[in-house]
Amino acid sequence: MTLRTNMKNISSDVMYMCLCPVCLGQFFDTHDYIISRDRHVQSKDCCDFCNHRYGYDYIIQTKGAGQKHMREASEQ
Ligand SMILES: [Zn+2]
Repeated sequence: MTLRTNMKNISSDVMYMCLCPVCLGQFFDTHDYIISRDRHVQSKDCCDFCNHRYGYDYIIQTKGAGQKHMREASEQ
């Protein structure tokens, strides 16, 4: 599952995803997202991006719509 595929499946500006530290770092690097930890979830789960590593649940909001898809495509 690629970054872009995940995004297409979630139409809302607010995403709720489980991210490992590596994939979380990719979100931070774009500076297009506001990322907050879901503190209700204390247990680690399998990352929704890489489906390989484990991480925590995060709430991810897009700062601006429209430009994120271009950025994702270039990072594949
Ligand atoms: Zn991951």
